Amino acid sequence: MAEFSIIDTYFNRHTSTSVDLGVGDDSAVLTPPPQQQLVICADTLVAGRHFPLDTNPHAIGWKSVAVNLSDIAAMGAKPHSILLALSLPQIDHDWLKGFSQGLYDCCDQFGVRLIGGDTTQSPHLTISVTALGWIDQGQAITRAGAQVGDLICVSGTVGDAAFGLQHRGHELQKRLDYPTPRCELGQHLKGLANSMIDVSDGLAQDLGHILAASKVGAELYLEKLPLSPALQQLPDQQKWHYALAGGDDYELCFTISPDHYKILKQQTPHVNITMIGTINNTNTLSLLHHHDSVVLDLNGYQHFA
Ligand code: ADP
Ligand code: MG
Repeated sequence: MAEFSIIDTYFNRHTSTSVDLGVGDDSAVLTPPPQQQLVICADTLVAGRHFPLDTNPHAIGWKSVAVNLSDIAAMGAKPHSILLALSLPQIDHDWLKGFSQGLYDCCDQFGVRLIGGDTTQSPHLTISVTALGWIDQGQAITRAGAQVGDLICVSGTVGDAAFGLQHRGHELQKRLDYPTPRCELGQHLKGLANSMIDVSDGLAQDLGHILAASKVGAELYLEKLPLSPALQQLPDQQKWHYALAGGDDYELCFTISPDHYKILKQQTPHVNITMIGTINNTNTLSLLHHHDSVVLDLNGYQHFA
């Protein structure tokens, strides 16, 4: 089966009025909404490195979209479309069927279109997705906006995916395989949060990026970390390690003034948002457990470590 019939069979499903020209020509064509900026990011998943080789293809399809939508959400932007660059060692129809279904399931859940891509053969299964989104001019929430006195918040629970990776078959493996990008919350935080990042490499490391970009420090209250029941039962050091150094959470970590935090809580009573710390004018991240200082050796996931 040639490249073109793979594209036609598996990756040419969406037609949409929000895309002027999608899959099938040399490039896709979009009309940007007035007064909006384009927000764009890419993320690559390599088999055996970013997911175990035996991961179900549907989950791989889902996750390759979800991790990108999470980056779009972390800017406060509305996701619009994706491009897919796929390198396949061989044509495996069962795999392609599951993969494309997972990819479209994630796209459909978040109102996103697959508008183009590239398909090649290579010895390693590699999936690279580019995501596009829109944001009102000048409203993108960056890592650099944290202010002294801001509260640090995180969505959902942290550490689940890392736990799921080490306890395959446990129900938390779902959090590893099917992360939920916090698209709605991200957009809601526009005009409210001062800085934001999505948690992909571990909360401590990712919060560290906010601190460095904003030139501030922080106190983190370990007893406040939002943990799933399976993690709550672990010894302190272990649960903190999963929560702070485990990767692949795809939750949003943001900083927000106390006044805006009140507004946010009133506006989103059913969204799981936890205040876990405060921004200060030191340039370090201090970990506290009920006011006692705690020292942990936390190395988030580093690709070239
Ligand atoms: P070209 O040779 O001009 O680069 P291609 O033959 O690579 O074009 O692609 C033909 C069309 O199919 C283009 O619209 C491209 O965006 C789309 N396409 C190719 N691979 C994929 C894919 N994996 N997913 C979605 N669209 C794809
Ligand atoms: Mg061409």
